[in-house]
Amino acid sequence: MELIVGRKGQQRTPITDPSVSREHCRLTSNPDGTFTLENLSANGTYVDGKSIIRTVVTADTQITLGTGYTVRVGDLLPAASRTAESGKQPEDTDARYREQFRRLKQVYDQYSNQKIALQREATLKNFYRSLPSAVMTVLFAVSMLGGDSTLLAQIRPAAGVLTLLLIALTTYQVYNGQKDLPAKMEALNKQFMIDYVCPKCGNFLGFVPFESLENKKQCNFCKCKWV
Ligand SMILES: [Zn+2]
Repeated sequence: MELIVGRKGQQRTPITDPSVSREHCRLTSNPDGTFTLENLSANGTYVDGKSIIRTVVTADTQITLGTGYTVRVGDLLPAASRTAESGKQPEDTDARYREQFRRLKQVYDQYSNQKIALQREATLKNFYRSLPSAVMTVLFAVSMLGGDSTLLAQIRPAAGVLTLLLIALTTYQVYNGQKDLPAKMEALNKQFMIDYVCPKCGNFLGFVPFESLENKKQCNFCKCKWV
């Protein structure tokens, strides 16, 4: 049995402590009934007050995650693996994975919504970028049409200032957008690669819609049945 513990972990009870990472540490069961505990977080995992990288613990060992979330190892273990340890069929385990798998639909929907929003933002910025040239075309047309009109002569300086302002504003926005958007997209993709993983083996499932995972019915990596 392998168990990721954290705010996005697979432990029995949810953890909300902000000093605990999404994936804070890993517990792997050993044949002799002990567990190998590995730290995965920059906030540290502690046994007996000492920061550990990798160590062997028992179900009764108290461990501390981050700045102050202390818990007994045995209390992290999912109910399913407890019954498995007491010799029963691990039938519940698959049901648990199925439920966790269904939650990935939300992860995917949220990801694709945010991605669409970012793409829309990029389109809007392109529209802004095209504005100054459109305005300048109009101004040019106006200056060609009625050079002698007093009204146009009055408007022209103001329009010129307005055009300059527009150019400055859009240049700033486009520059900011070019700096900003790829970084936002990268952060979104990175988070997605952390969240959109097989509930059993933790492998990233790819940039594919939830429906096509559902059609595959099982994990490519660990062959865990999802549906
Ligand atoms: Zn898997």
